[in-house]
Amino acid sequence: MISELSGKLFIGGRWTAGAGARIAVKNPATDEVIGEIAASTADEINQAVAAARQAFRGWADLPAKARSAALHRLGDAIAADADRMARIMTMEQGKPLNEARGEILKLAEACHFYAEEAVRVHGEIVPGDTTDHHSLVLREPIGVVGAITPWNYPAELVGWKLCASLAAGCTIVIKPADLTPFTALAIAEKVEEAKIPAGVVNVVTGPGSVVGQALVEHPGVDKIAFTGSSAVGLRIQQSATTVKRMSLELGGNCPMIVTETADLDAAVKGAVRRSFRNMGQICIAINRVYVARPIYEAFLAKVKVAAEKLTIGNGIDRPDADLGAMASADPLAKTKEHLADALAKGARLVTGGAAPEGEEFAHGHFFRPTVVADCTHAMKVMSEETFGPLLGIAPYDGLDEAIAHANDTPYGLASYVYAKDMDEVRYLSTRLDYGNVAVNNVDAGVMNAPYGGRKQSGVGYEHGREGMLEYFNFKHVRIRHDDPKGR
Ligand code: NAD
Repeated sequence: MISELSGKLFIGGRWTAGAGARIAVKNPATDEVIGEIAASTADEINQAVAAARQAFRGWADLPAKARSAALHRLGDAIAADADRMARIMTMEQGKPLNEARGEILKLAEACHFYAEEAVRVHGEIVPGDTTDHHSLVLREPIGVVGAITPWNYPAELVGWKLCASLAAGCTIVIKPADLTPFTALAIAEKVEEAKIPAGVVNVVTGPGSVVGQALVEHPGVDKIAFTGSSAVGLRIQQSATTVKRMSLELGGNCPMIVTETADLDAAVKGAVRRSFRNMGQICIAINRVYVARPIYEAFLAKVKVAAEKLTIGNGIDRPDADLGAMASADPLAKTKEHLADALAKGARLVTGGAAPEGEEFAHGHFFRPTVVADCTHAMKVMSEETFGPLLGIAPYDGLDEAIAHANDTPYGLASYVYAKDMDEVRYLSTRLDYGNVAVNNVDAGVMNAPYGGRKQSGVGYEHGREGMLEYFNFKHVRIRHDDPKGR
């Protein structure tokens, strides 16, 4: 039980037991209830937005050095409590403990990164259009941010929004996913410990269609920072009732291209890591691989071996397992649906295709890493986001065919290339219509470079300096000055 955080809201620096209905939160590895959250009421949402609004001016007016120091304190507090926070995450999300700990430490890294960025917010002086004018271009924090996050990376996806907001001088109301609320509440504990002023950070919980939607529609919220599915992102974009800035980090359907010049073992290692990590529940997961025909069967044979080596377990009992439980029954059901669709349309099952056997897996949402070959774009695995441990593979003849297949999707988040020939690397990386292209590696997102999608994968960026720009308004101050000669 996560009793100390159960059913609480963090509003205006105070922990309150919400007045609304209770929603049970389960451990996806065991199906046991680990706690409950409050469905925030309209009144509580208003209180949270009002608290953030009230705290805004004071926070924005602090010297950047003070906001930077606060973020460093937050990063230190999070890192110091990484073990406990990781346990909370594993219990609600299912990923193995070591991986959860790694995510918590990356959240701490984000705090330190944006602490350093906070003191490097420069404006510009622009030459005047006449000699008696000059222009200052200033960056000012947008105001109150409503952050709405999904369940697959419960710490980092809150953290990128939180850290960039705070560094910029914004205040924030966070609405985490119903499946993984306790990591966000644990982050709020650290905010308190880091002595970040009351109201700067608030956490409300409850159903997205009610609590998230209320933030989207709230006139007191100046910007929505959303990560989640493309369907909900579109709904948010269409349903705001006041004009707001928005960054929408949405779904993906990410391709990998393996050319004949690739280091085959490295490509296999990359494909297996980025397809199955976090049980494939990653927006930048590799969904589909296109392999040059001459090396196609060799690639399949090696992928089968590598996928079968991955260990699966209850993330608490097996902290070093490669894979834990899926976060809930829904992504598991979708994985099975996409697998059945592929097999019905002629795909070849290379490995997996069922849940692992044994008492350990009897009650949780487990599935073996699954690979299907000879896939076509008529199959859902190649054309929709599975968000589960299922990988579709197809051969290609010629780079242009591979590019055409890779770009044949409404999504544009991340893509992957394995090739040794630099001409191939350049040709592919310039033609892939994606916000991120990882070449001979599968870590498309790093803290100091912008990360974001295009097409139906969203608008806006997280990470890097560009991620912080999302939290600023520009202000142009045009100054006319008289010539003081002769005074
Ligand atoms: P989701 O869209 O169902 O929910 C995301 C969040 O939105 C949750 O907090 C939910 O409660 C809330 N929500 C739901 N309906 C809402 C509404 N009408 N108004 C406001 N908020 C609402 O997504 P999910 O199932 O939690 O997460 C999986 C999806 O997230 C996948 O599509 C994945 O690709 C995407 N994702 C994208 C990125 C990225 O950086 N692009 C990263 C991680 C996950």
